[in-house]
Amino acid sequence: MRNPVGSTFLITGGSGFIGSHLTDALLARGDSVVILDNLSTGRVANIEHAIGHPRLRFFHGSVLDELMVDELVHQCDVVVHLAAAVGVKLIVEQPLRSITTNIRGSEIVIEAAHRYRRKILLTSTSEIYGKNSDGPLTELSDRILGSPAVVRWAYSTAKAVDEILANAYHKERGLPTIIVRLFNTVGPRQSPAYGMVIPRLVRQAVAGVPLTVYGDGTQTRCFAHVADVVDALLRLLDHDQAVGQTFNVGCDEEVSILELAKHIIDQVGTASGIDYIPYAEAYEEGFEDMARRVPETSKIRALTGWAPRRTFTDILADTIAEAREDMGVPRR
Ligand code: UDP
Repeated sequence: MRNPVGSTFLITGGSGFIGSHLTDALLARGDSVVILDNLSTGRVANIEHAIGHPRLRFFHGSVLDELMVDELVHQCDVVVHLAAAVGVKLIVEQPLRSITTNIRGSEIVIEAAHRYRRKILLTSTSEIYGKNSDGPLTELSDRILGSPAVVRWAYSTAKAVDEILANAYHKERGLPTIIVRLFNTVGPRQSPAYGMVIPRLVRQAVAGVPLTVYGDGTQTRCFAHVADVVDALLRLLDHDQAVGQTFNVGCDEEVSILELAKHIIDQVGTASGIDYIPYAEAYEEGFEDMARRVPETSKIRALTGWAPRRTFTDILADTIAEAREDMGVPRR
């Protein structure tokens, strides 16, 4: 059942890539939004167009600020916890920040949701599955992680702790929780600064420089458009039976990174070539990539009727258009 129109949603990380699109969608359907964002990876530019909207309030602060989180959760009907240190590059370079935000920050938000008995949607990640290269991965697929000494797995571990904590609050204390494991999500407003492959490669193609393909490019991913992901979040938020459950959200069209680079070169129409960069140069010695990551999404489809509607070509078209605009390159 849809939350009553005019509900107030607290979105932690609301000026980030996905949070800002969710904010737009909630405002458009008549709800109110309170954003808590420390602007570390989020950007004011992402929500600039909505500033001054009578149903939007923005608070500059951290999920580690317990008093602020308590007050804002108290004021809201539903919590969407998106704030996280994300991006493989950032996680590898700043592990401490990633762990603190992703474990302690989430615990503070979950505790506050419990204090005021608010429904909370917690965003998790396909990193949960680690090196499991089976496909498609269901919500019950195994996690296969490397050594804790490989810093990449800190993110997966932190998010698993969040999920376990949310599940425990649901089971033992009756907290209404929904866990969403987001697979690779792409679209306008995604920063190229934290390693994400599509915004990086698209900007390289628009700039006419070589596209950096890490390893041999045979690793695959599935990319969903952010508009489809926001649609999935709304459907789950509005569905009573989503409570207490975990859902994969992503696209199931699998593409290798090398194919992706070639598509981008074609679609941009650039003379850029491809630069193969060894993993040790791209990240750090001992870095482990995931060979494959394909979601099984029948659970959310069966419950809510959701299906991704944007194609891979749509995703690239949107990202290319935005990169051209940002970089001052005229549209073709
Ligand atoms: N990647 C790449 N070139 C880049 C950035 C990333 O080849 O400039 C690769 C990366 O090694 C991985 C894939 O693209 O195999 C997706 O990387 P991203 O960081 O976007 O997401 P994730 O690894 O979390 O799926």
